[in-house]
Amino acid sequence: MNQPSESVVERFLRYVRVDTQSREDATTTPSTDSQWTLSRGLVEELRSLGAQTVRISDHCMIYATIPSNLPAGAEAPALGLLAHVDTSPAVSGAGVTPIVHRDYRGGDITLPGDPTQVITVAQNPALSDMIGDDIITTDGTTLLGSDDKAGVATIMTLVDILARNPTIPHGPIQIGFTADEEIGTGIDKFDVESFGARFAYTVDGGPLGEISDETWSARLATIAIRGKNTHPGTAKGVMVNSMYALADFLLRLPQDMLPETTEDRVGFVHPYAGIADVEESSIKVLLRDFELDGLAAKERLLRDIVAEVERRHAGISIRIDIKENYKNMKEVLKHHPELTRNALEAARRAGLEPFMLPIRGGTDGSKLTFRGLPCPNIFTGGHNFHSKLEFNSRRGLEKTTETLLHLVQIFAE
Ligand SMILES: [Zn+2]
Repeated sequence: MNQPSESVVERFLRYVRVDTQSREDATTTPSTDSQWTLSRGLVEELRSLGAQTVRISDHCMIYATIPSNLPAGAEAPALGLLAHVDTSPAVSGAGVTPIVHRDYRGGDITLPGDPTQVITVAQNPALSDMIGDDIITTDGTTLLGSDDKAGVATIMTLVDILARNPTIPHGPIQIGFTADEEIGTGIDKFDVESFGARFAYTVDGGPLGEISDETWSARLATIAIRGKNTHPGTAKGVMVNSMYALADFLLRLPQDMLPETTEDRVGFVHPYAGIADVEESSIKVLLRDFELDGLAAKERLLRDIVAEVERRHAGISIRIDIKENYKNMKEVLKHHPELTRNALEAARRAGLEPFMLPIRGGTDGSKLTFRGLPCPNIFTGGHNFHSKLEFNSRRGLEKTTETLLHLVQIFAE
């Protein structure tokens, strides 16, 4: 096989140096101008690698096609591959300085830019299987952005390899690079019809071999608590401080139903941001469950707590507003078992031992699946997303690329 013009590791190191952090509460898509920089570069790169109909939308969504090279008469369904260019708003993505720890010999990895940041074997047992690999971290002052530049780099390298190896058989492949995945809004601007794929995969997962066809079903509750403010010097019998009702609400949430006390298939409620003020306090709460019944029960629970708090605090009125974020894609993907089967087979052909893991989160795929584009998620080799301790490795990137290469061939068989 002819090697790509640039290795997946070099590509990855180049992409992570470009700041593409997205921002919560922005009113535009993309939420940050910086995402344009990497995306415009990707458009040029796709064109130079021979991709067809390469275009970028006003909302920074990239679409491109690798035409089928199957003999006339042989047909394969159009297969989509997706990754997102933005990185999490949670940790800075500016000035990322990737460090390649060549030929890892075991032990904890201290990050030189901030020695309090240590990737420990105790918290990352996967490290014990990575002896001899080249581990890629940051200097400890930013996130790495493997989520999801590993997805972007592996897909780009696949395009590169296919261009240099025209005898590798594949059907039509649609490439999509999206913006603002981390804030959950970008995908609404993605044009599924113009993308033109029958099925797709997001390449946006974790450790090697991890394949997911399940995400949370997710809702967001916004609770607004209204009291009454006045000058504290003359407040007696007049002031109603909404903060006490907020505190009461928080303390009534079941302690065994929080992200910090649950794992695996158990859902949670998660108060994650709010404002405390005398006149009005508000809090946003995430509701998460794999089952729609479980999610409905959590919604009832919140409404009951709100009613109880309102009853117990004289002069307080509370508004609760709950909206749907996304649904578990399994509800649709259970009707397309071949998608996970093919991904598992592709990973096996790449020499991995694949496994299914439900995502305690959402992906662009969860929304796309319900918009008619069934879309499971494939690993990228990444660990510790949204953190200064994020890492990937040479093998992680190479094996993900290899898996994608097998996947496009399996769909052509
Ligand atoms: Zn991601």
